[in-house]
Amino acid sequence: MSLHFETTAAIINKFRTYRGDLSWTPEEIRDNYQVEDLVPPPRFKPPHPGFTDLLPLPPPPANPPFSQEQNFINSAPPDLEDATQTGISGGPGNWRGKKFLGRGNSGYVGLWEYTRKNPKDVPYRQVVVKESSETIPGDDLRHEGTLLTKLRDTKSQHIVHILNDPQVVDAQAEHINPAWNNKVRRLIMECCPVGDLTDLGRHICETTLWRIFECLIDGITVLEVGNDWTVSNEPEATPRPNWEHIVHFDLKPGNILLGEDRLTHFTAPVCKVGDFALAWRYNSDATWRERFELREKGTTTFYAPEQFSESWEAANYQTLGIAGLYEKSNIWGIGYIMYCLVLIRYRGPDPMEPFTPRWKLNNETAKGRTFGLPLRGQSPHYSRALTDLVQECLYGQPGHRPGLNELKPRVQDGWKAAFKANATIDAWEDFLPHPPPPPPPKIKRQVCKGICKTEKLCKRKATADRYCRQHQNQRP
Ligand SMILES: [Zn+2]
Ligand SMILES: [Zn+2]
Repeated sequence: MSLHFETTAAIINKFRTYRGDLSWTPEEIRDNYQVEDLVPPPRFKPPHPGFTDLLPLPPPPANPPFSQEQNFINSAPPDLEDATQTGISGGPGNWRGKKFLGRGNSGYVGLWEYTRKNPKDVPYRQVVVKESSETIPGDDLRHEGTLLTKLRDTKSQHIVHILNDPQVVDAQAEHINPAWNNKVRRLIMECCPVGDLTDLGRHICETTLWRIFECLIDGITVLEVGNDWTVSNEPEATPRPNWEHIVHFDLKPGNILLGEDRLTHFTAPVCKVGDFALAWRYNSDATWRERFELREKGTTTFYAPEQFSESWEAANYQTLGIAGLYEKSNIWGIGYIMYCLVLIRYRGPDPMEPFTPRWKLNNETAKGRTFGLPLRGQSPHYSRALTDLVQECLYGQPGHRPGLNELKPRVQDGWKAAFKANATIDAWEDFLPHPPPPPPPKIKRQVCKGICKTEKLCKRKATADRYCRQHQNQRP
């Protein structure tokens, strides 16, 4: 068996199990894979009752940091310390790791703070450091660094920006494996102090959800055309010359970071697309082998139908309009995020349960199969216009999903309608990280108010109604 066949077989079976199908043996793959045309599947009747019995899921537990992670936060990144290296450095000993923020796809992420008093020393007081957790470089962070450097040129506020050009490592100076020499081990990123979309975890106003939706559209517009929208008469996104469409492949609530900019986003935080570790440039000239390999980009539970669809296994896969078409994968991604927000869940739609709505989505007959619970306007909190549009972004066939030029005005209209229906907005304080709870008030030990036989005040502990057990008979 060739190595090529083995990897191909592994990918085929990975997505068969992802959809709930049985794995194939090598013989079964030879006999069945891309042998016959796909017969359209029967209409799927969703088993779910819908919204009624849904409770918000508790957030995943925060893992206590491992010792490696502790070492990371105690370290002194040369990019921040060595003033000869980068424009953001502030000299040795002036930056301190404040908080371990988590594990990304490519390593550890932590918050560093500049500790010297004079704020003129450095352009940033807080930065986020992302560092590869590998001792021997497999994939270094060069790919992500290159994409981020390109994205920084757009100056868009809907992207989490890299702050300095990625630096290569001097392995000897850092006391790490020499294989790291001249590789990129670390990225210095902008800090987003408000948190990310998983921190919301509660019902927010519909007007806020439309605002978030629009920010997400603005973010993936930058990925697609390399520019922000301009507004003259109608919003327009002009492609940057020589820009190649970036597919994020890992759009999920935790990768959308929140910033505060009340000048441009005065009712809700600005949402920024972050973590480009799995992102990939894509153009429609890609070969079918390249498209097949892109199936693997992303993390479990966040794949798009063009990656996991059974249409890959049909002989006519190239003409079915699903397999390998990544032009609208980012639209699926933001649909996925909005779905989580609308349902207050941390899990998106189940890949095993596509269905064709027998009802209209935003007054149009459903174009085909879609994913997720049948929302069908049953949300007790959000309008049908919003939940239908989310379901439209989750169509299995990429061509059925609305494109950016259609989504942008629809989301703006959605906000207007929601604001007209109910002009409430969320309070800013509700978005900001919660301050630590105040210490519990000290309870004074209560002393009995009774009088003893010696005619002195009793000093025993009061049990009920401010009298001790012996003096309960003295209660008024
Ligand atoms: Zn925005
Ligand atoms: Zn007493």
